[in-house]
Amino acid sequence: MSPRQIPVAKPVLDELEVEAARRVILSGWVTQGPEVAKFEQEFAAYVGAPFACAVSNCTTALHLALIAAGVGQGDEVITVSHSFIATANAIRYCGATPVFVDIEAHGFNIDPDQIATAITARTKAIIVVHQLGMPCDLARIVPLARQHGITLIEDAACAIGSEILWDGNWERIGAPHADIACFSFHPRKVVTTGDGGMLTTANPDYDRKFRLLRQHGMTVPDTVRHGSRQVIFESYDEVGYNYRMTDLQAAIGRVQLARLPDIIAARRKLGALYSSLLSRIDGLRPPTEPNWARSNWQSYCVTLPAGVDQENVMQVLLDRGISTRRGVMNSHIEPAYAEPGMYRAGGSLARSETAQHRSIMLPLFVQMSEDDVQYVASELDQALVRVPEHAL
Ligand SMILES: *Cc1c(COP(=O)(O)O)cnc(C)c1O
Repeated sequence: MSPRQIPVAKPVLDELEVEAARRVILSGWVTQGPEVAKFEQEFAAYVGAPFACAVSNCTTALHLALIAAGVGQGDEVITVSHSFIATANAIRYCGATPVFVDIEAHGFNIDPDQIATAITARTKAIIVVHQLGMPCDLARIVPLARQHGITLIEDAACAIGSEILWDGNWERIGAPHADIACFSFHPRKVVTTGDGGMLTTANPDYDRKFRLLRQHGMTVPDTVRHGSRQVIFESYDEVGYNYRMTDLQAAIGRVQLARLPDIIAARRKLGALYSSLLSRIDGLRPPTEPNWARSNWQSYCVTLPAGVDQENVMQVLLDRGISTRRGVMNSHIEPAYAEPGMYRAGGSLARSETAQHRSIMLPLFVQMSEDDVQYVASELDQALVRVPEHAL
């Protein structure tokens, strides 16, 4: 048994969240209602977006974003294969084809240079992913999308509290840089509501569409009917979904949001410590932050030296009590995407494939001490040395 046990991630949850849930339970209104409305207002204010609409998770947020963009049968949506599979799946939900382009040479985000060549007459939208919390180069991608008249959606599942330099100012992801941004509150992310999602936009028509479709296409929400002194009948003008967030989740989300600035500050401190320690390890590549981006370090993913066996390193670390995860997956190599026509490759995906096998995510969470970070860094250093000859 190792002296320490360090998980790869850990949410920050305590009595404050318990109290918030308790308040909602005792209020008698537990589904989407006043807490969701307040959470939306506070989230919009936090990221600097005119509109924020809460939904059940980020996958449903992406689905609604694509519908709002008019994506349907026969359309193409440019994105990365190198992402959690939900990014590609949301495109398939619309009957559209994901067109996968490769990631950058150094980093896990879409390579802006490869987007233009993947555009065809059928391209209806682009989904960029701020992978692991590191912002994409929106300053280059937004003008490209505008020039071609293509809707740009941000998969910001991992990027709550991440920032980019925009016209000389630091702005949060979710402020209206592209057309729509989609966030996740899964426990693996920086803040959580158990499950949950949020869409932000500056476009009132999109926001109206999200609100309609998340609640069965119902024209008069139950909250309005509940509070009305007059009998009102709702109608259902199009086929919608049940993609609601509950008031229980939203109340917890509001507490999490209030904690967020402290959470980000703590994560950035730990990330900086990792980077300084790991830059001394020969051949190991810590993630790098461009001078126009500030990551929330939702995941701290390092690229191993060439020839090192990823699985072996992960096992050696696990034997020392340190949980890690392999690099981000690639949707195009999963069985779900094996059938012809499930996707189109917009070029080589070699970097995406290499990244999955050459990178590992190290533990990073608020409750970690600096000593824990030092322990992980030094154990990783030794694990690289300890890789047996036959694995090279
Ligand atoms: C987590 C994640 C999702 C899915 O979020 P859910 O809220 O679990 O649906 C989508 N895209 C990326 C990049 C993610 O990391």
